[in-house]
Amino acid sequence: MRNRELEQTLALIKPDALKNSLTGYVLSQLSEFHTGLIFAGTKVVHVTRMLAEVHYEEHRGKVFYPSLIDYITGCVHYPEEPHRQRVIAIVYQGPDAVKKVREVAGPTNPHAAREQKPGCVRSLGTIVTLKDGTGKEVGERMDNLIHASATDEEAEREIKLWFKPNEIPPFMRAYSTARSEELCYFRDDALLPNYEPDSVCVVAPGDVMWESDLEALRLIQQGRQAPCGLRDVVAKYLLNETTGNC
Ligand code: ATP
Ligand code: MG
Repeated sequence: MRNRELEQTLALIKPDALKNSLTGYVLSQLSEFHTGLIFAGTKVVHVTRMLAEVHYEEHRGKVFYPSLIDYITGCVHYPEEPHRQRVIAIVYQGPDAVKKVREVAGPTNPHAAREQKPGCVRSLGTIVTLKDGTGKEVGERMDNLIHASATDEEAEREIKLWFKPNEIPPFMRAYSTARSEELCYFRDDALLPNYEPDSVCVVAPGDVMWESDLEALRLIQQGRQAPCGLRDVVAKYLLNETTGNC
């Protein structure tokens, strides 16, 4: 990233932080006073399975993956209260944004966080033992309160995954945008040229999109190889549109 002032990172305040009333604490730790970073975007999100799976794609197939998806969608902490199944997604901006938010978060594993960095946010997290149907221990889930992008590349992927350009003020957009001339809808894992019942409008003529999303959509529509999948592009358009994760 050339302009350090425009460096950005994605932070997620996860369902366990909301449940334990730690939202204010996390926001305070990440405040401009403590980190020098400012908000570029923020929203409350009912995380769909689609978004969770795309976000945690790198962990697919691992023993803790199903539990990780249940965790980020709010199904672990609020199984009976869909209206509470949400995370707070924030884009922080400023020099060393990625590094600074990771520092406040601390080590991934809350036990390691307590040993290595007392006082970091994740030192307040917990580890939950995962068992199979017979009660045998098969792994663990780390309820660590906050997500923070690990690199500039990951931050770009994640910010584009969670936020549309128009959810970030124009002068705070770190990545190229383009105005679409296309109209397309999404339903059942496919793009549709016209509205059909239960479809969601992904893009209409005149909409501002991430340029990389627009390019990927064009390639997908032409049946050509795209740098990312359809779900990576459309997931953010389905946020807060659908209910029923668990
Ligand atoms: P995050 O991406 O949430 O900021 P991280 O970058 O420190 O965390 P990742 O390797 O990206 O760590 O893992 C993403 C999430 O998956 C972790 O926050 C944690 O909840 C869970 N996780 C990662 N590794 C393990 C593991 N070995 N066992 C259980 N859960 C894990
Ligand atoms: Mg990570």
